Amino acid sequence: MIVTIDGPAGSGKSTVAKLLAARLSVRFLDTGAMYRAIACSVLNSEVSETDEIAVAEIAESVQLEFQGETLCLNGIDVSEQIRTPQVTAISSIVAANPAVRNRLVQLQRQVGQQGSLVTEGRDQGSVVFPGAEHKFFLTASVDARARRRHRELIAGGSSLTLETVKTQLAQRDERDENRAHAPMKPAADAVTIDTSGMSIAQVVEHLVEQVAK
Ligand code: C5P
Repeated sequence: MIVTIDGPAGSGKSTVAKLLAARLSVRFLDTGAMYRAIACSVLNSEVSETDEIAVAEIAESVQLEFQGETLCLNGIDVSEQIRTPQVTAISSIVAANPAVRNRLVQLQRQVGQQGSLVTEGRDQGSVVFPGAEHKFFLTASVDARARRRHRELIAGGSSLTLETVKTQLAQRDERDENRAHAPMKPAADAVTIDTSGMSIAQVVEHLVEQVAK
């Protein structure tokens, strides 16, 4: 069984997907982490994130592997490095590169062949797993999403203002929604849920009920 959870940054999909996977006792796949890992590799090189050919070469040559929830890039744990503001800022630029997407979609489908999965991202229901049994698209107002992301960042020691977080979030949404290749959008058969006024626990319960139906 494959369950896809797509949606914009701050919609709660990562936390919800992880909890849902635990409830269903299946594997959880964070595809945003994979795009972030490529962005990390680009940042660690001399290559500009806008150099499509050089970025494509990086994406095709890196070794990317999940060991449990730990993401390893060329054998090194990058779980923390992929969450830095610098990586976040270029992740959606790198993710618009078709060669990057082709490589990562291939890897994601390989994970899907290994067994049941809750996978989250932007294109999991629309492109990567069109035949998934359950598809959800989580959304929330930009204000609600910015407040959530801001709280997380402050808890992690960041001093970014709410206004800056909101601007960066809106920029990333804009790029993700308008790229030519696999733009962020709900699959035609996805159930869309507005999580603005809901707690994480409420969203998880709702999804568990939907999957059980
Ligand atoms: O979900 P997260 O914020 O970690 O994703 C980082 C970036 O990776 C997103 O802004 C988006 O550009 C890209 N992404 C994507 N397709 C996915 C998952 C993430 O394009 N399936």
